[in-house]
Amino acid sequence: MKLHYAFLVGPRTSLDNKTGSWRLTRPILDRDKCSRCGLCELYCPDMCIVMVGDHYVIDYDYCKGCGICAHECSAGAIQMRPEEG
Ligand code: SF4
Ligand code: SF4
Repeated sequence: MKLHYAFLVGPRTSLDNKTGSWRLTRPILDRDKCSRCGLCELYCPDMCIVMVGDHYVIDYDYCKGCGICAHECSAGAIQMRPEEG
């Protein structure tokens, strides 16, 4: 049997597999607290924090809720909240 693990390797390698459904906690980004340092964008393993215009947004289609972004944000601009539903 041939196994396919490609979607688990590397950042955002599976645009066909929206990994957001894996999420148990959701990062909420407070734009007013954000200094736009870019650390969350740098550390997110799925590259789902991107600059849109002059602020960062989180792509919830791919965010797995790992919490790394919140951990790395020294400004406290990202809070993890339980996913609803
Ligand atoms: S790490 Fe925090 S302060 Fe830096 S860009 Fe991300 S949300 Fe903003
Ligand atoms: S919780 Fe943060 S670091 Fe983890 S996948 Fe989502 S946006 Fe990226």
